Amino acid sequence: MRTLTSGDEDIRIAAEAIKAGRLVAFPTETVYGLGGDAFNVSALARIFEAKRRPRFDPLIVHIADLSALDMAADVGSLPPSLRAKVGALCRNLWPGPLTLVLPKQPSVPDLATSGLPAVAVRFPSHPAAQKLIRYATGAIAAPSANPFGYLSPTKASHVQEQLGERVDFIIDGGRAGIGVESTVLDLTEEPPRILRPGGAPCEAIEAIIGHVETGSPPAPQTAPHSPGQLASHYAPKARLFLHDANVMASLPFCPGEAYLFFDEKTCGAWRARNARNAPHVGGDERIFTLTHGADEGTADKTLEAAANLFDILHIIDNISPSAIHAQKSPDSGLGAAINDRLTRAARN
Ligand code: AMP
Ligand code: MG
Repeated sequence: MRTLTSGDEDIRIAAEAIKAGRLVAFPTETVYGLGGDAFNVSALARIFEAKRRPRFDPLIVHIADLSALDMAADVGSLPPSLRAKVGALCRNLWPGPLTLVLPKQPSVPDLATSGLPAVAVRFPSHPAAQKLIRYATGAIAAPSANPFGYLSPTKASHVQEQLGERVDFIIDGGRAGIGVESTVLDLTEEPPRILRPGGAPCEAIEAIIGHVETGSPPAPQTAPHSPGQLASHYAPKARLFLHDANVMASLPFCPGEAYLFFDEKTCGAWRARNARNAPHVGGDERIFTLTHGADEGTADKTLEAAANLFDILHIIDNISPSAIHAQKSPDSGLGAAINDRLTRAARN
């Protein structure tokens, strides 16, 4: 494995590697991706192998040009109302943290979609990701660059620690700005449905195409419709407990456990309570807050929290606490995505 910069020459080296069927971890605005040529079946197989990812969990195809959408998806086969929604979302929210599930073109290998008739496509906004995709083959299949089920990587060092020699190159583009994965939106049926909350808030999507469903589809299913919906996922090694703010503030301090607060106010209340009951609440290396400063409106706070979430969970994992207590985020903005990840982390 070799680390590359996000300079033009290095990205060209990485793109040649992708064309040759090799794997490149690269930065996106959501989290780091593990990329391979979307149309090369052996590269796709290597992605599943490197992540130890079950074959039933399909990959997102990344493009860097609206015209490349037709390479992967057959938007023309959708009814006109859905076609209009796809167009409006592409114009307004791409490039960005939104993945669209659309009817697939026959040329997309079944391995990429795990045999599903639909393909997930995203146009990332990160300049290094866009260059890599354009210099390579125009369509890169890329799940998050972490072992299956484990915390997502928001820095090149996370990829190095977790995948090491299973990757040929890592492009180091600094910290992923958004910090949680893309929102996955199924546009194969009316009304469209959010299969996984993520970096594009539901409110932003509904402002463009009107009502979307959330949560699991009602029909019983033998396999997950979208494996990002698996109950346990995005998990740290230690057991994680998720609490409302008031419960979090009243938890007793237990040495050996880690505490992840959403805001400083709740953390302050908890410290005050434990300063009275247990005078030696030291152990600050086990106490974290996802946001800092005064409460100035939850929408901005959830952006800050999402950007810090996986980074802090990686730090907590490295100190091997006996348990992790985490405070729920407010539900607005990226809060739905944060709570979704924490809820699944709590089920490991
Ligand atoms: P990630 O591992 O972060 O790249 O997430 C990929 C997730 O996108 C999968 O776990 C699924 O939840 C979702 N996804 C990808 N392809 C499809 C598809 N064809 N149909 C439904 N969901 C998909
Ligand atoms: Mg993932």
